[in-house]
Amino acid sequence: MTQLTIWGGAGEHGRSSYLLQHGEQALLLDCGGKKERGGQYPLIDEEVLPHLKAVFLSHAHEDHSMAIPLLYKHGFKGKVWTTRTTAQQLPVYFQAWSHYAYSQSINLPYNDQHIEAIDYVFLEDRSVPGVWGEVFPGLRMKWGRSGHLPGSVWFALDWADKLIYFSGDYTEESSLLAVDRPVHLLGPQQTYVDLAIIDAAYGADPDSQAIGLEELERVTRETLRKNGTVLYPVPTYGRGQELLVWANEVFPEAALIVEQVLMEQLHQLATMPDWLHDNALARIEVMLACGRLNIVADTEAREHALSRTEGAIIFTDDGMMQSKTAQWYYKRLASSTKNAVILTGHLAAGSYGELLLGTNSTQVHHVRYKVHQGLPDVRNMLEWVPSKATVLVHASKTETDLLLKALPHEDHHTLHSLCSGEILTF
Ligand SMILES: [Zn+2]
Ligand SMILES: [Zn+2]
Repeated sequence: MTQLTIWGGAGEHGRSSYLLQHGEQALLLDCGGKKERGGQYPLIDEEVLPHLKAVFLSHAHEDHSMAIPLLYKHGFKGKVWTTRTTAQQLPVYFQAWSHYAYSQSINLPYNDQHIEAIDYVFLEDRSVPGVWGEVFPGLRMKWGRSGHLPGSVWFALDWADKLIYFSGDYTEESSLLAVDRPVHLLGPQQTYVDLAIIDAAYGADPDSQAIGLEELERVTRETLRKNGTVLYPVPTYGRGQELLVWANEVFPEAALIVEQVLMEQLHQLATMPDWLHDNALARIEVMLACGRLNIVADTEAREHALSRTEGAIIFTDDGMMQSKTAQWYYKRLASSTKNAVILTGHLAAGSYGELLLGTNSTQVHHVRYKVHQGLPDVRNMLEWVPSKATVLVHASKTETDLLLKALPHEDHHTLHSLCSGEILTF
């Protein structure tokens, strides 16, 4: 008997962690935190850890990675399989997570020693995308780029006579990041994958990226037309760099004020051609050479940039506006109704961005830039990965149930909307 236990991440946004068990062996897909109340963690069962043979980490985002040190704290001695690029990004996330806990007056449940104990195996050293490789006798694995973040991947596991697919966070709509579509997972004798765990973070949302971009363009253009300034709070890695390149192309006249930490990541991205679309490098280079970037890193430079420009587009770090910098910009801009704030991602309950949106100010907008899957994307993935059991994850139970209703009825006997703590035998 093979079973999946949800340690976190289904029926909620955050603490992704999926335990697979067969006989005496266990595998774990991701082990993340949830950015609420100082940090929520997966339902780790310490008694399972001596049987845990390997952890597979899809990408560096905190909702997939921040609880990994807890495994080591509780005695896990095995390896974490992930990309080198993900491992390189993690120190920044661990630091930010610790600052977040501190800011909420919560003690981290682990220390630096447990972070240092993480023993990585780099996927790039073991196999190329889309090709099966051996993890240990009895477990084969293949991975592919998932288009969500540099270094982000999906996994397929062939273990205990079962074929298992985990999408990680997946999108084919990134303007910069390349993706390896999960096709050809089945062997010649196989008709179905036995279990698929699929990113369905946007629930039943039917929109494509193009629709969101049109709305972003409209709000930005309208604000600039009034000589107002637009503030884009974005995460340090990820959609921020995509939106920067987009803004440079769509608004060639506007001044761009960009926090240095975001520019550093854009430079970094330019060194990772393996993760990029064919034309992405050229577009990034045009952006870097555009000559109208005000790159800022301290209050004096920010004041200076703001004082000499009207009608600018500002990119600051922290998509949920938890950073002091994002809040500083907001306070600086809030006094004029000409200005606008555009939030483009997930806003955790109680975050500054969420509270701001709740004030119903006409200046604060929420327009999604897609880095996950909505209804049409999940529908496609169900075709590429025909599965006897599919668990839709990464959204609230209510949103997941709505998605389930919107999907073809004949699929319903194979689709699952689960919550943390639930078990599925497959
Ligand atoms: Zn993610
Ligand atoms: Zn995620």
